Amino acid sequence: MRFALLGSGSRGNATLIEQGDTLIMLDCGFSCRETERRMLRLGRSPADLSAVIVTHEHGDHVRGVPALARRYDLPVWMTHGTARRLRDDDLPAVHHFDGQDVFEIGDLQVRPFTVPHDAGEPCQVTFNNGQHRLGVLTDTGRITPHIRACLDASDALLLECNHDSGMLADGPYPAALKQRVGGPLGHLSNVQAAGLARQLDTSRLQHIIAAHLSDKNNAPHLARTVLAEALDCEPDWIGIAHQDDGLDWRELA
Ligand SMILES: [Zn+2]
Ligand SMILES: [Zn+2]
Repeated sequence: MRFALLGSGSRGNATLIEQGDTLIMLDCGFSCRETERRMLRLGRSPADLSAVIVTHEHGDHVRGVPALARRYDLPVWMTHGTARRLRDDDLPAVHHFDGQDVFEIGDLQVRPFTVPHDAGEPCQVTFNNGQHRLGVLTDTGRITPHIRACLDASDALLLECNHDSGMLADGPYPAALKQRVGGPLGHLSNVQAAGLARQLDTSRLQHIIAAHLSDKNNAPHLARTVLAEALDCEPDWIGIAHQDDGLDWRELA
């Protein structure tokens, strides 16, 4: 199993997970053309995709989904609540799931889990190939016991480090937006992400990637430092998923 990111942050998110002939895209917050361009960079085309899974209906996660699904005839998986908010009756094939379901797409087992975030029915996802598990967690306002249980003992983690609380407080956002981002239905701070990392069994961990960093309220070195401290590792070992450059393929072996 391997994974890569087309980009990560408030201006667009998309993650690829590949196992054998199965290639899944998790969220697509980029236009169809931009998605094609970014996939090419990773040696792939949307024509290679088996399915798209949508975590929630915010624009930075769904912007490109309808056009991409129609152009490449892709099945889209999402919760009932996300589908209701997306309001698109013209997708080629929609599969609904809820936060308790476990399902298979090709060679990958997909386990969604619910998260507290200000969307219709938001979820995040773990991917399992029978040997290794990749856990993805972005767009959550706080850590719940359920999130902890789902991500414990993962082999790879893609973990939201949205903001540094000090930078958010002193930054350019209007007060209401600061409250939303930092609130219990908003986004994880570096310290919250590190708090989760501290509580998890990380004995199997091969990769940890800081994701969904705010370009106004965070900086890669801050996320790296806080996570490295929590995991007692070198800061360079912490990967960063960038808004423009995403993240190159990472292999689980
Ligand atoms: Zn987001
Ligand atoms: Zn969101």
